[in-house]
Amino acid sequence: MGLPLYPQNGWVGSKLPPFPFSPTRKASEIDLRAEMKLMLEGNSYYPRRGHWILLRRMDKRQKCTCYNRVGQGEEKYSLDKGKYNEPELRCPLCNGEGWLYEDELHLSRRTLVSPTIGLAGSEQMSDIGWMNINYIVFFFQHYVEPKRGDKIIEIELDDNANPIRPFVMKEAYRVAVGEPFRDQNGRIEYWRAAAKLEVV
Ligand SMILES: [Zn+2]
Repeated sequence: MGLPLYPQNGWVGSKLPPFPFSPTRKASEIDLRAEMKLMLEGNSYYPRRGHWILLRRMDKRQKCTCYNRVGQGEEKYSLDKGKYNEPELRCPLCNGEGWLYEDELHLSRRTLVSPTIGLAGSEQMSDIGWMNINYIVFFFQHYVEPKRGDKIIEIELDDNANPIRPFVMKEAYRVAVGEPFRDQNGRIEYWRAAAKLEVV
């Protein structure tokens, strides 16, 4: 199909050739922020399409005191003398995360990003048994800002897909990359968090 030779809307310019399409108005642009909000949250006309997850934000300013702890007194031989640079599994402060954290409820949509042809091969035999690590991308609204090292936790939901309280954690995903999607004037329209299943 060729471009129309005759100007549209009756407009004839003296210098520029006629633009064959009607101009894009600001109001006719897609507002992705609003679309994302509508999709995830819904309103009285559209159903909610997001599901509730917990975003565990790590406070990375300072490591927890349990990190790399060297045993003293009675614990002198029971701790590992700081050989392994890691937090303690059952630390009452950080729960073994290594950082202080805060959990937030967010609505999200997730998608599996492994190539379909390799899905069956994503299960592998390891020393501790069969392991299946899939790569998931979570989508969030513009204000969420998931960061590397944060965790996304899938929780039990009731029949109306609302979180059961106290929260029952099902699967934890570690965010590897938090990537903003920008559009109009460079404004952040939504976030993509590429995450990997945490093997516990
Ligand atoms: Zn700790």
